[in-house]
Order: sequence, then C-alpha cells, then structure tokens
Amino acid sequence: MTRSNPPDPSGLDEPSPSARTPGAGPGVRPGASPDSGGPGGRLCAEAVTLAYGRTTVVHEVGLTVEEGGVGLVGESGSGKTTLARALLGLLAPRSGRITYGGRDLAAMRRGERAGFRGAVQPVFQDGSDALDPRMRLGSSIAEALAAHHRLDRAARRARVAELLTDVGLDPELAARRPHEVSGGQRQRAAIARALAVEPRVLVLDEPTSALDVTVQARVLDLLEDLRAGRGLTYLLITHNLAVVDRLCRTCHVMFAGRVVESGPARELLTRPAHPYTLALRDAVPRIGGAPPRAAGRTDAVPAAEGCAFRLRCPLAVDRCRTQAPAPRPVQGRVVACHRAEEVLAGAARK
Ligand code: SF4
Repeated sequence: MTRSNPPDPSGLDEPSPSARTPGAGPGVRPGASPDSGGPGGRLCAEAVTLAYGRTTVVHEVGLTVEEGGVGLVGESGSGKTTLARALLGLLAPRSGRITYGGRDLAAMRRGERAGFRGAVQPVFQDGSDALDPRMRLGSSIAEALAAHHRLDRAARRARVAELLTDVGLDPELAARRPHEVSGGQRQRAAIARALAVEPRVLVLDEPTSALDVTVQARVLDLLEDLRAGRGLTYLLITHNLAVVDRLCRTCHVMFAGRVVESGPARELLTRPAHPYTLALRDAVPRIGGAPPRAAGRTDAVPAAEGCAFRLRCPLAVDRCRTQAPAPRPVQGRVVACHRAEEVLAGAARK
C-alpha cells in the first residue's frame, strides 16, 4: 500500500529521492567551478558549430561570457537559443568547443561537470519550465537546495523563505503551486530556484518576454539588483536590444546562425553598424510609442550565397550577392557588412 504524507503548510514537501536538479549531485560545493576554473571561471564558445542532423544552425561562433554581462540578440531561428543550450552543456558542438574556467566541457570528469552545472544555471522564458506543476513553489526551490547543500529540514525551510524574499516574493507563496500564482511571481520563483545553488552565471533565455510590460520592468529591476548584490554574470538571450543595454555590457547580434555584429551594448543600440542590428533597434517596443516595426522583410529566407541578410537588406548592392562579408573591426565593434561605415554615418539609411 502506498502511504501519502499530508501536505506541509510551509510548502516544503520532502524532495523525493528521485527529484533532481539538472546536473546536480549531492555534496557539490555551492557555486563551485570546475577544478581548474576557480570561482567565477569564464564561459567561452570557441569557433562553435552546432547542428541538428544535417542542418547546421550555428556557424563557428566565438564569444566569452564575462563580467558585465553578455547579450545574444536575434530573431527566433537566429541560432541564439541553440548556442545558449550548448553553453549550458545541453548540446555538444559539431566542431569547436565550450569551455568553463579553461576546461573543455566535453573533457570534464563527473565531479567537474556537476560543479559546472551548479555554477551555470538557466532561467527560461516562462517560469513554468523550471517548476514542476505538481509541486509547491517551496518544494521546487528546496529540491534544488537539497541537491547542493546538506541542510536539515528547518534550515532548508528558512533558506527557501530567504530566497523568496530575495526575489521580492512573500514567503507564504511557498505553499502555492505554479498555476496558483501570476506569471511574474512564477518567473521570480524560477529565479529563486536558480539562485538556490549559488551560481556564478545565469543564462537568461527571454526572461521577460512572456510577461506584460509593467511586470517585465519589475523583473528587470530585480535582475539588476541581483547582479549587483550577488556578483552574478549574465548571458542574456533576447530579441530586444534595449533589454540587453539594461543588463549587459557587451552584445552579439546573430542572424542565420552567424554573429553579424559584436561590441558594447550601448553602442549597438545607439549607433548600429549592421543593417540587421539597425532593424532590430527600430523594432524595440517603446512604452506609449507606436507599435514596433518588423526587422526588415521577415518573410525572406537567408540567402545561400553572398551575404545571408541580402534578401532583407534595403542597402544590398551587387557585391552583397557574390561576396559574403567577413567580420571586421569598424569603429569599436566587429561587424560583417560591406557597407558598415555608411550605416554608421547614416548616409545609407533611408
Ligand atoms: S553586406 Fe550588403 S546585404 Fe549584407 S548587410 Fe551589408 S549591405 Fe546588407
């Protein structure tokens, strides 16, 4: 006969023996980095190519997630979420490598790998992705805690209350299930769960796009406060350049699996050099403003020859049809466009 425990009013059901935080292992030091990385090791993609079957979706991308935060911007299908999955260790590169603290993820031993997964935590678009719908919020957070800390029940309950308070939630909400709270509260609870293992890096995949505008602003405030208070580093995946400017120092813009412009986030928002960055900038929604414009002709597929963006680009010339632009340094950023100087000067903008 199966025995069932009565519900705990604190919201802390005992984590089931099978309950697991992805990649977590008992006894892993909270926030620990792999042996050679030390706390706060850098997360890098080195010439990474990613594919699903025969379809290559990311082509030889390199980036470093470092202090100050890094934004990865592009439309859906640009490859940014696939690259983020690889940086989380969820997808193996076809070529190139992902490193943390100088160690190749593919070569990490089991203990190192568990340390990496504690140090680099994801926060997805909708908090429900991280929260089991059958579990109370408190239990979901306690489950992550149990995987990384040896705490007794009372200490775990106190820590869950602290974490909920840290993300601006009433600890009483520990007793609710995900569907019993608002979208903003759910996302805060998902952030609390990610923070339970004391990570060094948060990979934020469209963390506010499922929320309405006022709730978005409050969650962004929270993320800013947490970064400052906990010394977190963010890799932010989004389609919104303004959100990157708010949370990150550096920005990479991806189109059709390639980085087309990289540089300081503020520069890319205020003075884009690639026509695609310019189109994304013009698509940023503004509170009380006109509806955003789409980023160019979004129905056109990437071109197979020459510049992949040319079928959407209002500035395309003959050269763009025959010659793929190589990334090159232009006025404080790296950009892959034959006409970047003209875009920057505003001369080529219609
Ligand atoms: S290389 Fe040509 S087609 Fe490509 S973005 Fe620049 S101007 Fe447009």
